Amino acid sequence: MNTRKIIDSHMHISKWGEMDFISCFDGYIKNEKLQAINICAIPLRQTNVCNNIVLGFYKLLRPNTYIHGGIELIKIPIDNMPADMDAVTQYRELMEIGFDGIKMLEGKPTEHKRIGKNLNHPSLNSLYKEMEKDGTHLIMHVNDPDEFWDVERAPDWAVKAGWTYTDGTYAPYEEIQRQTIKILQEHPSLSVTIAHLFFCSKEPKILEELFEQYPNFCVDLTPGGEMYVEFEKNYSYYKEFFNKYSQRLIFGTDRSYMGDEKYADWLFNVVTTFLGTDKPVKSFDNKTLMGLGLSSDKVDDIFFANFENRVGKEPKPINKEKFKAYIEKYSFALTKEDLERINPLVEKYL
Ligand SMILES: [Zn+2]
Repeated sequence: MNTRKIIDSHMHISKWGEMDFISCFDGYIKNEKLQAINICAIPLRQTNVCNNIVLGFYKLLRPNTYIHGGIELIKIPIDNMPADMDAVTQYRELMEIGFDGIKMLEGKPTEHKRIGKNLNHPSLNSLYKEMEKDGTHLIMHVNDPDEFWDVERAPDWAVKAGWTYTDGTYAPYEEIQRQTIKILQEHPSLSVTIAHLFFCSKEPKILEELFEQYPNFCVDLTPGGEMYVEFEKNYSYYKEFFNKYSQRLIFGTDRSYMGDEKYADWLFNVVTTFLGTDKPVKSFDNKTLMGLGLSSDKVDDIFFANFENRVGKEPKPINKEKFKAYIEKYSFALTKEDLERINPLVEKYL
């Protein structure tokens, strides 16, 4: 069982489920004695609007929860969004409700294709600009493991999920990476955390360069098991890397409601053993991964301090009036089933 202070900075509620979604992570928080959790919007099974509303209610009833909301693509391509619902307006609305940051999935190849414009488009640039000015935390999922672009090397589960990018309609890995680095070049103070080590575990020199140039650039350590296989293969390099850049690395699990809890518990154990101890653990390739043996202050950086430094020591409170107004304004983006779930919650809690 975990005995350290930990914030899980990267979790999801990806569908409503049958159980009461409000209590979905209580067991996890209690069993691992977590300090807090952060739930990120994920528009893969719902709209971002629906997921933002789920997150808002979750936080209202579990106030010790950070939430990162998503921008709804009202019209595609993204530059067709109406003026009162453009990315910056939606960002402002989410901040007023009490969101602690923004989560973008627009850099995932499937979503990148869907937005119909690149990540440096003016309508997104104005969002980065506002967030840079405000110091608001942005979590971005960018790219996927490079083998997803290769028929020979793509794993079966990725093929099944539809996450292979070999038919020529997806932007190449290098192109999405280039667009992301351009965001940093244009917004050098942006407080941005790129999930899953920016899928750069085979070329970590890129991260070193970005850490040196951009003071607010971080990556999270949420698996991608392939990252942990690379940590094992290049152990001495990575040991130095984690020591040197402990203030740029953030713990997270990608735990999801409703996901596979047994797998999530196993994953939590692998990642926290690797980051927080000097003990061996069986890793994603079933081989032994040795704990990094970092000093206590560096473990704290990774487990909670870096995240707190970016979003604050307490999650923001929910403003009920603003939350209610948001639900009314964007109800057109909800399905009938979503509304049947949401309306009783509005009645009861707002
Ligand atoms: Zn995620």
